[in-house]
Amino acid sequence: MKIMRLKDKVALVTGGSRGIGAEIVKTFSKEGATVYLNYNNNESKARSISEIYNNVKLIKADVSQREQVSKMIEYIKEDIGFLDILVNNAGIMLNMPILEYDEAKVRKMFDVNLFGTIYTTIESAKIMREGSSIINIASNAGIGTSFMNTTYYSLTKAAVINFTKRVALELANRKIRCNAIAPGWIETDLTIGARSREETEQLKKFLVENTTIGRWGSVEDVAKVALFLATEDSGYVNGQVIVVDGGRKDYLTHSI
Ligand code: NAD
Repeated sequence: MKIMRLKDKVALVTGGSRGIGAEIVKTFSKEGATVYLNYNNNESKARSISEIYNNVKLIKADVSQREQVSKMIEYIKEDIGFLDILVNNAGIMLNMPILEYDEAKVRKMFDVNLFGTIYTTIESAKIMREGSSIINIASNAGIGTSFMNTTYYSLTKAAVINFTKRVALELANRKIRCNAIAPGWIETDLTIGARSREETEQLKKFLVENTTIGRWGSVEDVAKVALFLATEDSGYVNGQVIVVDGGRKDYLTHSI
């Protein structure tokens, strides 16, 4: 009989209706967790997951709005009482060259990627049990990959990485761990939607040549690491950034 690694655990995954978040929801559900799938717009996609996977509960909120995040956690508190795992996954990427700075787009990215992570973390912490795990989906952009036009996105993720370490430090006294995953290029709506078809094809060629593992990433590659961070298998891992990018070679820190 399969051992359920998240039996009796309660998780919240933000932005869980598609892409990396959806795969994490499915993985946690298959391991026996009750999973609150947060979505913002895509109710039908969210519902298609909850109809197939066990104990997946839908919860609508825009994570960039503190009031909505606060209500989401209130709802979970009334519904089940506590949380053990939080995955701050909701995120957006709006690319632009540095000199074509678009104030509204940059602020929107900070609102979702950084403030969404902050709001959801501080509200969730109110109902987290001892032994809980917070997992922030950052990006290898946040530690300096060489893709053009992703500077402002990368700043939001660099801030998430710093926040991860600070949360690990300050919540340690409550036995709450906090780690980040820094994925490389994963094929999802976010990455496919960011560039033209030709640019994406060029990028994929670049990735195969500049990744030691020789391929771009899948949502499963990230979800498996999220599962590791969610369980006690990672009980001695805290404040860390696990880079899941197939061993990319094109880091600015190495080349500039
Ligand atoms: P995606 O666009 O498929 O999924 C992002 C999810 O976040 C969507 O479900 C979207 O509706 C949700 N979301 C966006 N704004 C929201 C808001 N305000 N409130 C609630 N939900 C919101 O993208 P993905 O590739 O699955 O990305 C997931 C995370 O992984 C993001 O944080 C992204 O920055 C990060 N990431 C992705 C890659 C990649 O290559 N795909 C690489 C590194 C990091």
